[in-house]
Order: sequence, then C-alpha cells, then structure tokens
Amino acid sequence: MSEVNDLLEGFQRFRVKIFEPNRELYNRLAMKGQTPHTLLIGCIDSRVDPAILMDAAPGSMFVMRNVANLVPPYETTGVYHGTSAALEFAVCNLNVRNIIVLGHSHCGGIRALLDGYGDNAEGEGFIGPWMKIARSARDQVLERWPNASREFKQRACERAGIHASLTNLMSFPFIRARVEDGRLHLFGWYYDLENGELMQYDPEKNRFYDLYFGPIAAGGD
Ligand SMILES: [Zn+2]
Repeated sequence: MSEVNDLLEGFQRFRVKIFEPNRELYNRLAMKGQTPHTLLIGCIDSRVDPAILMDAAPGSMFVMRNVANLVPPYETTGVYHGTSAALEFAVCNLNVRNIIVLGHSHCGGIRALLDGYGDNAEGEGFIGPWMKIARSARDQVLERWPNASREFKQRACERAGIHASLTNLMSFPFIRARVEDGRLHLFGWYYDLENGELMQYDPEKNRFYDLYFGPIAAGGD
C-alpha cells in the first residue's frame, strides 16, 4: 500500500501547493469548461509526462496518450477508435489550434516493433496489432540503415514513428481541411529523456533539429 499512499500524499501536496493558490483558475475552468489551445499526443511511458515536461497550466493542453504515441490512419470500419475519437473531440469540438505528436527516446513500444511485434498479429495480444501502424516506418529505417547499431535504429525508428503519425493525421478529413486553411498547425517533437533535450521535425527539410539542448541554465532556455 505504500506506493499508493505515496500517490495520495502527492495529491495532498497538489492541493496545498497547486490547487489552493490557483483556486480561482480551477473554479473558472470548472464553470466555463475547458478551452485548450493544443492537443498533445504522447506515449503512455511513465517517464514522459507531457504536463510536467511542458509545465503546462491546467486547461491549456488536451493530452491523449497511447502506446508509442501513434496516430492510426483514418478509417471507419472498426468499432473502438479511442485515439480517433479523441482527435475528433479535440479538433471538432474543442477547436484546438495545434496538434503535437511527442515521441521519446528509449520507447518500449518502438523497441517491441524492432523486436518484431506487429509482424504477425495472431497470438500477439493487443500491442502487436497496434504497433502495425508504425511498421512501414520501421521497415524504411531497416532498409536505409541495415548495418547501424541497435541504438541508432531505435532512435531512427522513434523519429520515423512520429513522422508516420503526422502523415496519418493528415488522412483525417477534418484535420486536413483545417491544416490547409491555416486554422490548425501540426508539430512533431522528440524528447531525449536521458539529457532532457527536445527536437522538432522540419517538414521542409524532412529532418529533426534541436530546439532545446546542451547545458541547462536555471530560468533560461
Ligand atoms: Zn514510448
């Protein structure tokens, strides 16, 4: 029970340090509803909490997390489209102005993909079929760098997965329409959890570049 008690003690600290000083904000959000400006699609990894990473104020960021921060392609034949439902709600109901796909280093979902999960959906439970979303991204990495180290392939695959999700976002008609007329902006971010660094995808150059890296200065950038 001590682990769960740790969480409850954390909730007590939240009430004292965060809720009480911001009671007015929380009450306003409760009464008027949320109007987040950004949808962030992140991984379920316990080391990559988007609200902590972005130091985001309550009500500002709508967060959806799944295995390996993947966006499936638009299709309506299935039944339980949790990720697509969240996309629809954020874009069509909340009218977010930005969508960020946040990938990260040392991703267990991507490791599973490199280990062959998703190659044969039968008998692989739920992770294998889900990771199929990024299978072609993985195949491109393995084809391009067949002799690279496992670590290199992992990082390349994590970034290729972000790219695949950005591509799949554009397959949703309600997203494509808003991107094309400038109401919605898409971003691909890659978080290096060893060094606390952040990269961003540049669609024009088709590569990731450093946003925040190197020595960390208190209060600076
Ligand atoms: Zn992950």
